[in-house]
Amino acid sequence: MQITDARVFVGGPGKNYVTLKILTDAGVYGLGDATLNNRETLPAAYLRDYLIPNLIGMDPRNSEDIWQFFYRGAYFRRGPIAMAALGAIDMALWDIKAKLAGLPLYQLFGGKSREGAMVYAHATGADLDDLMDSIAWYVEQGYQAVRVQCGIPGMPSASYAVPEHKGARRHYITDYAGIRPKLEIWETDRYMRFMPDALAEIRARFGPRLHILHDVHHRLLPREAAEFAKAVEPVRLFWMEDPTPAEDQDALRLVRQHSTTPIAIGEVFNAIWDCNRLIEDELIDFIRVAATYAGGITPVKRIVDLAGLHHVRTGFHGAPSHSPICMAAHAHLNAWAPNFGIQEYLVLGTPECDALFPSEHRMENGMVLVSDAPGLGVDFDETEAARYSYEPGSHPVVRLPDGTMWNY
Ligand SMILES: [Mg+2]
Repeated sequence: MQITDARVFVGGPGKNYVTLKILTDAGVYGLGDATLNNRETLPAAYLRDYLIPNLIGMDPRNSEDIWQFFYRGAYFRRGPIAMAALGAIDMALWDIKAKLAGLPLYQLFGGKSREGAMVYAHATGADLDDLMDSIAWYVEQGYQAVRVQCGIPGMPSASYAVPEHKGARRHYITDYAGIRPKLEIWETDRYMRFMPDALAEIRARFGPRLHILHDVHHRLLPREAAEFAKAVEPVRLFWMEDPTPAEDQDALRLVRQHSTTPIAIGEVFNAIWDCNRLIEDELIDFIRVAATYAGGITPVKRIVDLAGLHHVRTGFHGAPSHSPICMAAHAHLNAWAPNFGIQEYLVLGTPECDALFPSEHRMENGMVLVSDAPGLGVDFDETEAARYSYEPGSHPVVRLPDGTMWNY
């Protein structure tokens, strides 16, 4: 059996999804997601120029050897561009393997460990009242877990994932059209004085049962992150996400030593080597890798198994930058993973997105119910894809009030 062709598509409704389709001489095809948010043309070029010419003629059933070939075979390994491209190949090969077996992918991992996988939605507000309305809306929709992001009084511009004006209610996408980023101003002191009390008010309003998550988005220094984690302990957060950038991983030790607030990290990690120490030293509670950026299903399964040895649960990244193909890969991993925690999930559900990626996965009462169709359970409509092309976009950049560059 041979791979006969592989094609890359870039574009989509409101997002530049990078979709890989691998074709075989057995008539079975596989789909993968290489979307690297706001840098989408780079994994597409890596696939087209370097990986696909080597892929043609390989036996698609040897997914492990193909992964090793492209990982070990590249002298300059890792990094988000190479790993997103490799991640798409790996997803597509698992899709092919499960279709050949006539089984939903989770059966090849060891079957289902649960009937539904709990997700968290994104509530956001320009101020606390606005955020309360947003949370209430998600609770009414049946969500059991909500990430909450709030505008900070006196902050000169909206903070992370927060709209400038009231009424966004559903997830507020912070990306901007065009290659020049929008500027946001960040003031740690205002955040530190406001956010712990705001989280306490949210807990008081919604009661003990709602799972409340909060994303600090790399904005704090390690000592500040420790202070914040300690201050929000009475709120009993489901998790505090990315309290400080994970480039300095010993920083998490300081946070850990001062607080029992659960820590989630890893959405920008590209390999098991980015998180093995954090997991083995039990400095985190949730690992946030995504099948796209972390090189596909093969390495993410290894990370999940390592995490399971150290009481670390999964909380895969699920921002709208992942296409429904990556989210389908996560749905199968979540159905299987014995140490599943939660899945980030955005209410995409636009008719345009559903038409481009017809999917068998369903959402019910804040849980993803995995598809029983053979393979990943998601398809790609090339006729629909022809309607879209690449549109440049960017994340905002962040400065302190005196102009110093800060972490987005
Ligand atoms: Mg995040």
